[in-house]
Amino acid sequence: MTDRTGTDIERRSTPAAVALEADLCVVGAGMSGVACAVTAARLGRRVALLDAAPWVGGQAVGVPIGTIAGLFSCGPREDQRLLSPLFGEELVRRLEVRTAAWPMYSRRARTLIVVYDEVDLERVFETTLIDAGVRIVPGAVVEAVERAGDRVTVVSCATRFGPLTVQAPLFVDASGDAVLSWLAGAPYRVSDPPVYGTQMAVLEHVEFPADEDATAIARRAEELLQTYADHYGLTRRESRVFLLPQRGLAILNATHLPTPLHPVAFWEAAWPARAEAERATQLLRDQYLSVFGRARLRRLGSPGIRQTRTIVGRTRLTAGDVFAGRRFPDAIARAAWPVELHDSATDYRWQPLPDGHLYTIPYGALLPAELSNVLAIGRCIDADPVALSSARVMGPCAAMGVAAAHAADLALLSGRDFATVDVASLQQRLAPNLGED
Ligand SMILES: Cc1cc2nc3c(=O)[nH]c(=O)nc-3n(C[C@H](O)[C@H](O)[C@H](O)COP(=O)(O)OP(=O)(O)OC[C@H]3O[C@@H](n4cnc5c(N)ncnc54)[C@H](O)[C@@H]3O)c2cc1C
Repeated sequence: MTDRTGTDIERRSTPAAVALEADLCVVGAGMSGVACAVTAARLGRRVALLDAAPWVGGQAVGVPIGTIAGLFSCGPREDQRLLSPLFGEELVRRLEVRTAAWPMYSRRARTLIVVYDEVDLERVFETTLIDAGVRIVPGAVVEAVERAGDRVTVVSCATRFGPLTVQAPLFVDASGDAVLSWLAGAPYRVSDPPVYGTQMAVLEHVEFPADEDATAIARRAEELLQTYADHYGLTRRESRVFLLPQRGLAILNATHLPTPLHPVAFWEAAWPARAEAERATQLLRDQYLSVFGRARLRRLGSPGIRQTRTIVGRTRLTAGDVFAGRRFPDAIARAAWPVELHDSATDYRWQPLPDGHLYTIPYGALLPAELSNVLAIGRCIDADPVALSSARVMGPCAAMGVAAAHAADLALLSGRDFATVDVASLQQRLAPNLGED
């Protein structure tokens, strides 16, 4: 054993990047990236999963979002169908085992949503990824890519421990901001007008009187947030309150902030929104004593980003497709969540789809027009802002992740790229998520 005294003097030489090789490199460890990485690793592939944040779970954990939406069809409570059983079913089961998931029927959305505890979700993601054998690297900010023609060959990251590169034949962009297309110099789109994000607030020590129904409590809290918005300096009028009575928690979705993809401007917009979220908490403490009188702010998570940059795909999912219930020939997922477009500082457009209505997400919307070995999933697929406001919730994100993993496996089996994968074979594998529709 070396006898080190801890006083050695060293001088840094030019840092050599730590180099990883994988069959598939997934950028972004949110719901879509985790679903993709787990599925691909279980198919026997060597998967590297990178995330800029020093945790796993993306916005579902870090914001935190608080409810998994879009897993089920829309319609009456007794007529709910799971739209994305692949990965979705397992995820809910793993949360339930930890008593950390509470499926509940949303009358506003006419569908089942799953309220979850984000601390447990983070551990579920971590353990599922580790058990599947995924090489996970949190805290790795992808900042450059090498491109040869229509292929990305290497991504380079900054980490607190020095540079890292990942070389792979296939890449999945689950960054939410289409960073791979952007860094590769491929065309991209930016939401115009901008879509607002939200600074969420998690409250603890919320009391739930036995004689008050949780839904009624949430509605009352939302009314109070609207009534006293001016008095407490809140810009947003239409707020949402999610309750976890089993944990004495509430999650406030009561602010709107612009989310420019700019390292300084982003935070200049976030600070006032954090102050507003704190004032929203105070509003409820003052105005709804029986439930929130003892409540305290447990956490202001990272500012939530809804829609920013998307790829330019081979196909664009449009609002017309969503409302028409379009079944694409290259469908890889189904979705039915309402249109939920946060395009105004004060409120948002909320438009539930008719009972039993479904539309599909085409594989072409995941394929960047100029890159053959990259797939985009989650928030950065090619969709117009209205369509994306429905398709970007967590159920479809998980389904897109599963689809991308199978596409990667098929591509590797046949020596092809994503752009030339046999879609019929892909759809066969995704049959449970595509159903009879
Ligand atoms: C305020 C708010 C409320 C919402 N409410 C709901 C809801 O109730 N139910 C629901 O289902 N959905 C809801 N959504 C939508 C949903 O949370 C997201 O759209 C979904 O989680 C997106 O998952 P994702 O995997 O595509 O992206 P994200 O969860 O955004 O993950 C992207 C990841 O990529 C990483 N990344 C970005 N750039 C880089 C880079 N350069 N290098 C490395 N990593 C990078 C990020 O750190 C991040 O972890 C809400 C969204 C917001 C913002």
